[in-house]
Amino acid sequence: MTFEHDLKATVRTIPDYPKKGILFRDITTLLGEPRAFRRAVDELVQPWAGLKIDKVAGIEARGFILGGAVAHQVSAGFVPIRKKGKLPHTTVSIAYSLEYGIDEMEMHVDAIKPGERVILVDDLIATGGTAEGAVKLLRKIGANVLAACFIIDLPELGGADKLRKLDVPVRTLISFEGH
Ligand code: AMP
Repeated sequence: MTFEHDLKATVRTIPDYPKKGILFRDITTLLGEPRAFRRAVDELVQPWAGLKIDKVAGIEARGFILGGAVAHQVSAGFVPIRKKGKLPHTTVSIAYSLEYGIDEMEMHVDAIKPGERVILVDDLIATGGTAEGAVKLLRKIGANVLAACFIIDLPELGGADKLRKLDVPVRTLISFEGH
């Protein structure tokens, strides 16, 4: 488990950001370490390496950095899932629940063809509300969601279980207690 230990040590924790009581898990320190960044990208898709992957979908904004690298690694296309109002072409959208209230995320309607094999990527899964919205959005345009991959899991918040209940295999590399 030394990889897990080493990777965990590259994540910086910032207490009370963006608000009191939150332990913000900052991956910019991981991204800045060449070996940690490369290993994290390799390990994220390791169970699906060798399978045909058409597209990697990344959730704004940290999912873009990881998803772009993963897409390159597996020779897939990259698809951005963005906050409402950011994409220029015709979009499909879905409402999803945040800790307080709801928001909307969007993707281009033609970003993925029906039946294409897609892997979803983000930096961290907490309650799973964001990733659940992304899976539903991808399925809305007919994507075959092979898996969802995250560097960090906060298991006490139940997000990974929420995705598994939607029949999405979940891959996470490290976990932190609490939220
Ligand atoms: P959730 O929808 O609750 O699973 O939240 C996941 C999204 O919020 C991801 O895009 C994360 O980047 C971000 N997020 C939630 N909690 C944290 C945290 N403790 N530290 C850093 N990012 C977080």
